Amino acid sequence: MTHTDTDLAELVHQITDTLATAFTAMAIADEEIDRAAREHPADADLLYHALTLLVPTHSLMATGHLLRAHCRELLRRVVNAEDTRPGTAAEVCCVCHDISLATPLSSPAVGLYMRMWTAAGLPSTAIDTGDAAHHETLEAERIDELEADTRRRLAVADRHLSAVSCTGSHHGRTVSCRFAEVHGD
Ligand SMILES: [Zn+2]
Repeated sequence: MTHTDTDLAELVHQITDTLATAFTAMAIADEEIDRAAREHPADADLLYHALTLLVPTHSLMATGHLLRAHCRELLRRVVNAEDTRPGTAAEVCCVCHDISLATPLSSPAVGLYMRMWTAAGLPSTAIDTGDAAHHETLEAERIDELEADTRRRLAVADRHLSAVSCTGSHHGRTVSCRFAEVHGD
C-alpha cells in the first residue's frame, strides 16, 4: 500500500465514522422530537422544525445520555416558548468536564457540575448525592450565579426558530403547520 492509499483508507474510515456519528445523533434527535410531540400534540408542527436546533455541540454528546438530555431541554424550551440559545445543562456538564481535566474545579463549580448532572437526568450513581446536597445548602446562591453566567457564555447565537419556512409537508405527508401558512394562497 502506498502512502496515498493509506491516507485515502484513513480518510474514508474517518468519513464513515463521522457519518455514523451524525446519523446516530440525528436518530436520537428524531426520537426525542417524536417523544415530545406525543406529550405535546398541539405543538407537533413546531417540534418537527426544532430538529435544526438539536445539533450536538460537544464531542461528549456522541454518548446517548448527554445528547438526549440536550435535546429534551431544548424541546422543552421550544414548547414553553423560551429562549433556545443559552447553554443547556448537558452543555454545562461538558464544559465542567473539560475544565476539570485541566484544573481543579472550585467548590461552587463542583456544585454546578452536580446540579447540571442531575438536571440532565444523568445516572445519579455517578455522583455523591449527599455531597451535591451539601453544595446546594452552602452555596446555592453562588451556584445560581455561576449557572446563569455559564449558560449565557455557552449560548449559541443562531440556535433559534425565527426563520422557519415550511412547504406544508412533513416526512412526505401533507400537514397543517403554522410555518406553512405564509406560503398559502
Ligand atoms: Zn412545517
